[in-house]
Amino acid sequence: MRLLLIEDDVALGEGIHQALGREGYTVDWLRDGSSALHALLSETFDLAVLDLGLPRMDGLQVLRRLRHSGSTLPVLILTARDATEDRIAGLDAGADDYLIKPFDLAELKARLRALLRRSAGRAKARIEHAGISLDPGTQQVSFHGQNVPLTPKEYQLLHELLSPPGRVMTRERLTQLLYGWNEEAESNTLEVHIHHLRRKFSADLIRTVRGVGYLVEERR
Ligand code: CA
Repeated sequence: MRLLLIEDDVALGEGIHQALGREGYTVDWLRDGSSALHALLSETFDLAVLDLGLPRMDGLQVLRRLRHSGSTLPVLILTARDATEDRIAGLDAGADDYLIKPFDLAELKARLRALLRRSAGRAKARIEHAGISLDPGTQQVSFHGQNVPLTPKEYQLLHELLSPPGRVMTRERLTQLLYGWNEEAESNTLEVHIHHLRRKFSADLIRTVRGVGYLVEERR
């Protein structure tokens, strides 16, 4: 899950960046509104955490322009305690959720999981598909009732492919979602992770769509 964090407060940004990194997100962090908008319009993310008070372009304007472009990316806004009007304006501009500063990092993580769930069209937290059961809260995965240990990247990749199944995910999109800007991916890394997932679950779980990417069939 690749997340763009847009926060100009360095101490707060570092705290969020570390906490979400430990949670298994690929986190890219920008500190001003104008570069954030550019990144949001040109790259692939699963989620954005957007502070409203930002240099170079405020968060509300970033959000309005993002929605104006037709993007339905889940966005959680961060606002100050006394700024009720900002929260209302943020929700009206297309934010999916908000948190008031200061907030608990555990609550931020839970709200982000809920946003991911809603954007994948699921009401339940647990993902169940083709004998696989994946719990985003604990990141435990089982296959026909047996616990299956996965590396963080294998977990992320499986989560992307199952959110929801039935979509062809291009190689480019999967690589962006898994690695972001901070990690350099070797050219065959994605294939290696796919190979391991097929071995740990079943050979026909993930279909290769030649020249495009990968797909987990909706009904199996
Ligand atoms: Ca700020």
